[in-house]
Amino acid sequence: MGRLKRAGWVKKLGKLGVETNWDLLYHFPRDYAPVRRIADLADGERAAVACEAGEREETLVRQGRGFRLIRYALRVSDDSGEAWVASFARVPRRGQRSKAIAGSPLALNYPEGKRLLIEGTVRRTGGLIEMQFSGAERLGEEEELAPGTLLPIYPLTDGVYQGQVRPVVRRLLRELPEELPDPLPGRLRKRHKLAGLREALGSIHWPRSEEAREAARRRLAFEEFLTVQVAVAQRKREMQEPGSGISMRPRGDVVAELEEVLPFRLTRAQQRVIAEVAGDMAADTPMHRLIQGDVGSGKTVVAAGALMIARGNGYQAAVMAPTELLAEQHYLVLSRMLAPLGVEVVLLTGSLRAGERGRVYERIADGRAQVVLGTHALIQEGVEFDRLGLVIVDEQHRFGVRQRADLWTKGARPDMLVMTATPIPRTLAMTVYGDLEISILDEMPPGRRPVKTSWLPLERQKEAYEFVRREVGEGRQAYVVCPLIEESEKLQAEAATALSEELQEQVFPELRVGLLHGGMGVSDKDGVMEMFRRGETDVLCATTVVEVGVDVPNATVMLVLNVERFGLAQLHQLRGRVGRGAHESHCILVSDRRYEPSGKLAPGAEESLGQARRRITVLLEESDGFAIADQDLLLRGPGEFYGTRQHGLPDFRLAQVARDVGILEEAREAAFEMVGQDPMLEREENAGLGARVSALRARMAKAVG
Ligand code: ADP
Ligand code: MG
Repeated sequence: MGRLKRAGWVKKLGKLGVETNWDLLYHFPRDYAPVRRIADLADGERAAVACEAGEREETLVRQGRGFRLIRYALRVSDDSGEAWVASFARVPRRGQRSKAIAGSPLALNYPEGKRLLIEGTVRRTGGLIEMQFSGAERLGEEEELAPGTLLPIYPLTDGVYQGQVRPVVRRLLRELPEELPDPLPGRLRKRHKLAGLREALGSIHWPRSEEAREAARRRLAFEEFLTVQVAVAQRKREMQEPGSGISMRPRGDVVAELEEVLPFRLTRAQQRVIAEVAGDMAADTPMHRLIQGDVGSGKTVVAAGALMIARGNGYQAAVMAPTELLAEQHYLVLSRMLAPLGVEVVLLTGSLRAGERGRVYERIADGRAQVVLGTHALIQEGVEFDRLGLVIVDEQHRFGVRQRADLWTKGARPDMLVMTATPIPRTLAMTVYGDLEISILDEMPPGRRPVKTSWLPLERQKEAYEFVRREVGEGRQAYVVCPLIEESEKLQAEAATALSEELQEQVFPELRVGLLHGGMGVSDKDGVMEMFRRGETDVLCATTVVEVGVDVPNATVMLVLNVERFGLAQLHQLRGRVGRGAHESHCILVSDRRYEPSGKLAPGAEESLGQARRRITVLLEESDGFAIADQDLLLRGPGEFYGTRQHGLPDFRLAQVARDVGILEEAREAAFEMVGQDPMLEREENAGLGARVSALRARMAKAVG
């Protein structure tokens, strides 16, 4: 099938990525309107009728300066009855534009007796049936549209009409060969009860019934998922060539060893995940495991377990964090934990002086440094390790597939552990991170109390400050998070600085206010954090740099200003900074009253306003990170979520990632089985799918760089 014929509107479709006939066939409707007999039209519904044009009326509704508002009405009829179709148009008094509008579908300028397909919203008053026009197309003499048929409504751009696209799609569908090659092998279709491609395409565009549409959607969603899952399965297979990794067996009881130096017992979840990690490390294929655990679930201890195993086998380990601040935090925690066990831990940051840096490099190169902490620059700058056996990456979602791939090409194939505090919905875990094994830390250490979350309108912000004052009076500490400015780090730093001055001078003159933002030098940041940790500051005015990893159990208030600017995952992370100690903790969200979570949304209000309100509501109602992640996915759509776009994964067209877990799981299983039997999809029956997978992988590789 070739490119689309060139017509003005076809070019415009290019914006939607539609360039070839195939693209158009895979440009699926976003909605449907049922075709009805006129007599069966129901008040208030959006529907379509196949009818014959009758007389046409034109009424001047209003004269304005330079324009006229005209109401057009077209009488239409079918066997069952008649109706008026109405539309309004603002027509300039003179000139070309006036002609153009008179020629537009709005003018309902159809000759009597012509067969038409009209769509619109129905109004029935008494015996009168009126349709508020939203689209029309001419029907050929022989074209029948049985009542009950669903009329496709396509996602389109400005200047393209449904009535232009529909006939072209219908023609393409009619012209599809009887024996259309199907990328899904026949056996697979049979096993999973999937429709053939030709039938599915026919029914997704022009379903005869709801059931037919759902069957078509299922088949096409399966196809989308299967393509991605085959790519994932192939990648995984390539990474896990037997014998290509290092086998490291635990020496002794890792859990017992850790508990000897820790002031607490490990949770059951921590023990289970350490065992899963140990199993991977013992195998001679490289480990690729993702640990998901909500903020505060104790991932660091699991990391320590893995580090112990590597050390016990005479291998070095690298722990990489997304920011220097976090790397330092980890360094502090891990060196405290591991030094008593005789492990040498070093920190490599950008702020080391040249001489010191040289010495650290040396210790890494000769193997004395057993655990090395740093940002991902650690790997990119080509630090030489003596025997690198394990790499731990913290906070994966900021890290990206790119860096993961970088690491992987470093030659040796170290075991790899990825830790993320942002729970990933199961569906995404199977796609974006589908080549990783997954462990879930689904248990919080004992004694955690849920954080009380509340919302305050801006005019009551003072009360939040008073609350902070009271808590500090009780000996606690607080974070005040400055409104988010994503556009510029410099502006963000300025805003944070200004806020901290205001807090210190006007709001809390009697308290000690600290300031932390991303533009500060590493040692400054470190100094500020250390003071806060030691309780030498009461209130920490900060940007989202406190979002990850900061751990000060005495802090009990998280106050977020202009909460509407933050993302849901971000807010969940921020809230996770409190509730870490023995005292009850609070998260206070402040925003303009327009964002009041329970307030009624005026009709026609901006989408972003509604979204921000929903985010706040979710936060007030949910504390479970997985539930929040699911909501986030629903609110934002998969494309936005964790930048799946950056990863080169397609935005699924039909598959609704949040809803179609069942289909996804089936497709995933089928994909892994298929790749197990025919890794490169070279068998004849798999070749069609193989070609699609290759195209997808090429796209992904390009996006990842
Ligand atoms: P995260 O999963 O967010 O990285 P951390 O590893 O930073 O969590 O742990 C959060 C806090 O919980 C730390 O103060 C840590 O010492 C503590 N902690 C971890 N595991 C346990 C446990 N089993 N019992 C009690 N406290 C624990
Ligand atoms: Mg952590």
